[in-house]
Amino acid sequence: MLGRLIGRTGLLLALISPVAVAQQYPAKVITILVPAAAGGPTDTVARVLAPPMAKDLKGQVIVENAGGAGGTIGAGRVARSQGDGYTLYLYHIAHSTFPALYRKLTFDPVKDFEPIGRVTDVPMTLVSKKDLPAKDFKELLAWIKANGKKVSIANAGVGSASHLCGLLFMQAIQTELTPVPYKGTGPAMNDLLGGQVDLMCDQTTNTTSHIKSGKIKVYAVTTKTRVASLKDVPTLDELGLKNFELSAWHGLWAPKGTPKPIVEQLSKALQVALKDPTVVQRFADLGTAPVKDSDATPAALQGQLKSEIERWGPIIKAAGQYAD
Ligand code: ASP
Repeated sequence: MLGRLIGRTGLLLALISPVAVAQQYPAKVITILVPAAAGGPTDTVARVLAPPMAKDLKGQVIVENAGGAGGTIGAGRVARSQGDGYTLYLYHIAHSTFPALYRKLTFDPVKDFEPIGRVTDVPMTLVSKKDLPAKDFKELLAWIKANGKKVSIANAGVGSASHLCGLLFMQAIQTELTPVPYKGTGPAMNDLLGGQVDLMCDQTTNTTSHIKSGKIKVYAVTTKTRVASLKDVPTLDELGLKNFELSAWHGLWAPKGTPKPIVEQLSKALQVALKDPTVVQRFADLGTAPVKDSDATPAALQGQLKSEIERWGPIIKAAGQYAD
């Protein structure tokens, strides 16, 4: 009787041990939560990645959008989710700027998440509505200086990459503009296309197609060197904003407590997906590229997150920017 009981308990323990969990994984649909609106840059990256990851995992991967407050609403939801491998979180540089920008955060970006790997470093572009009169960056600066706070600049909320870029841009040109927050730069782009806002600094994953079709104007890219798919567009550094350098590095995380074998399986699936020719091509069309294998790992993402928290903390604090 006792032997049978121990036998059953042992079986039960074996069933719920991390290795056993990983062996059955995935047994249901995996959700990648994107903490921004549908149709925006993070959503695009997630939807490009999901099918090849699903193929490698031999399961189903779907994308869910939970935008708002620069991504902190979705990030908080993931932090409170069960670490069972069925909720993942794809976000970018914003995950490292939250602690400096928010006085009250309901989660800890390091302690509440299990890193899976880095994904891609997306360049950003300074773009405007089509009928803005300035035909180049010099004219844009003159127009901005003449109009000051009358100039609106869209972003995806305090903490988003577009917010950070706008902040750095205003600092660099020493002029305050009027930021207009959205739940993601997907909806912000709709307003830029419609001419309801003047400017936006947004990722190439959201701006490239509209730039190429002439529906918006582009003045500069934010990376140190030019972007291959937009090779005629100068860098802000070239245009005189010395050392302006920003790209939205992306990472894939799971909630804390996700079993190690599952994290490893997800990391491998991420590496496989990033080498998929369709992903490579799609990213190239969108002005970006997958990170190398050695960066699509938990250790590389954790290192990146920690060094970026240290990098942005003092810069943001010096800018005196906070959200409650
Ligand atoms: N990641 C946001 C989005 O997908 C944009 C941003 O961070 O600026 O809408």
